Amino acid sequence: MDLPADLSLPLERGAPWWYWLGGRPALDFTNTFRERWNRCVETLVTGADLGEWLVQAQLLDTVPPVTGPALERARELREAINDGVVAALAGEPVPEHTLEALAAALPHAARAEAVVRVDGTLALVPAPPADPVAHALGLVARDAVEMFGAADRIRVCASDTCSARFFDRSPTGNRRWCSIRGCGNVEKARRHRRRQQETRT
Ligand SMILES: [Zn+2]
Repeated sequence: MDLPADLSLPLERGAPWWYWLGGRPALDFTNTFRERWNRCVETLVTGADLGEWLVQAQLLDTVPPVTGPALERARELREAINDGVVAALAGEPVPEHTLEALAAALPHAARAEAVVRVDGTLALVPAPPADPVAHALGLVARDAVEMFGAADRIRVCASDTCSARFFDRSPTGNRRWCSIRGCGNVEKARRHRRRQQETRT
């Protein structure tokens, strides 16, 4: 989906420009850096943005505090995943530095268990993560590993002006747009106009 042409950059807050068409957290995450072909719009502008994004992505229940270094680490993980996506789109193996970044983030995905009393007996529940941001990024990394296991389903939107990545879950594996109603229709209209111009000239 295209961003407005008159967007004032850099953004102050990224939230209005997040979108959730990637089909999985790893790709929604790479899509937080938008218009990679043109203006390179960072939508994880602040630590608060990242905290809010992790909740909207349903990776955390409550917005965690996010430090500057944690935001930096998150962006690095995102770009490492994106490098893997770019490689996958070119039919190449996932780069070594992507694997290393995923391996470093992955251990935080695991949750310790806690014991609670339920109706007079005891039960195990997942313990709150010690570092919620690292935990959520661990979940993103885990999703990325699973995604690269099916790398032939990774796509970039076919629109000329959209760099959205998405995971093609269509039965035939020939989905072309991040959103049929958005980019699909815009692109069809654009091609229609181009054909009309060609017939005229
Ligand atoms: Zn698109």
